[in-house]
Amino acid sequence: MVITIESLLIIMSGLVFIILIVIFITSNSKKTYIVKEFYSLGTTNQLKVYGKNANKAIRQSIKKVYEIDDKMSVFKEFSEISKINKNAGKEMQIVSKETFYVIQKAIKYCSLSKGAFDITIRPIVALWGIGKAYQHIPPINEIKENLKFVNYKNIVIDENTSSIFLKNEKQEIDVGGIAKGYAADEVKNIILKNGIKSALINLGGNILSIGTKEDGTPWNVGIQDPTRTRGEFAITIRVVSKSVVTSGNYERYFDQNGKRFHHIINPITGYPSEGDIISATIISDNSIDGDGLSTGVYIMGVRKAIKLIEEINGVDAILITKNKEVYVTSGMIGKFTLASNEFVYKNMLFEEM
Ligand code: AMP
Ligand code: MG
Repeated sequence: MVITIESLLIIMSGLVFIILIVIFITSNSKKTYIVKEFYSLGTTNQLKVYGKNANKAIRQSIKKVYEIDDKMSVFKEFSEISKINKNAGKEMQIVSKETFYVIQKAIKYCSLSKGAFDITIRPIVALWGIGKAYQHIPPINEIKENLKFVNYKNIVIDENTSSIFLKNEKQEIDVGGIAKGYAADEVKNIILKNGIKSALINLGGNILSIGTKEDGTPWNVGIQDPTRTRGEFAITIRVVSKSVVTSGNYERYFDQNGKRFHHIINPITGYPSEGDIISATIISDNSIDGDGLSTGVYIMGVRKAIKLIEEINGVDAILITKNKEVYVTSGMIGKFTLASNEFVYKNMLFEEM
């Protein structure tokens, strides 16, 4: 058989065509996102970022989270929070604009929750050993003694000089209940600046979604079943560009004498909150608001919590009680799915409140 130049050209162009199709298919089915896990803010974090600048955005984001941890960790001696605590009762401590902003926001949520959320809780948190390897039940007299210093109204702030002062020298603050929310908002800004339209920020279980999934459908966010091991959900919700922050009794705890002692402390008793709520989720645009509210709402109990969140525009709540009942604010009705049949949705009669 004689192969002419023409037929050779036809065969070759056919081959080139097939190769191009194969390249096209494989490049389209290739993962278009990058997932990165890292440890900071006392927890495990994960960033899932779509788009061509994903690597750069992730690098910048992790750097930013490390910086925030350096400024705001109560466990780092050189942090701005530690400096405020060391200067308590002595002098004003100048801090960066961002630490000032977080404290200012925190005070707002201390006040809105009528002191259920109180960042001057640190001396009590320290007694319980929360965040340390050795957690234990402290002697009652020590709890009582330290409760005297818990009062956010003793935090003096001066915006002009960007400084903070604690009136009593025994006072100490802890922004652990709100800093993750701030960090998530900062990560979101970095990701958006990189021109990315789709990402999921997960800082220790606090979720902040950017846009939709790449295929245009909403993100599906699971709310941990507080009675089961990590990864088993009680509820799922579909969100677009929303923060979903949960405070739960399963995050940090130790068991003693058959009882669970968790990390959310009631500032009235000095003991882990024993109200009706075991998981409080706040859905909001900004994560700092969700984080600041979730910790306080957990302590406040269902009735007061629903009332407070109903009063705040653009913010919603999903609460799970000890009895495995689920309560939601009016904005969430019909927008969640029970992922386990052990949980029962209770419609709160708003007019009764
Ligand atoms: P979160 O996981 O956002 O609910 O925050 C819990 C963390 O906030 C704890 O690990 C403590 O560092 C701190 N914390 C505990 N109880 C309170 C409280 N009543 N007010 C403010 N912060 C608290
Ligand atoms: Mg919180």
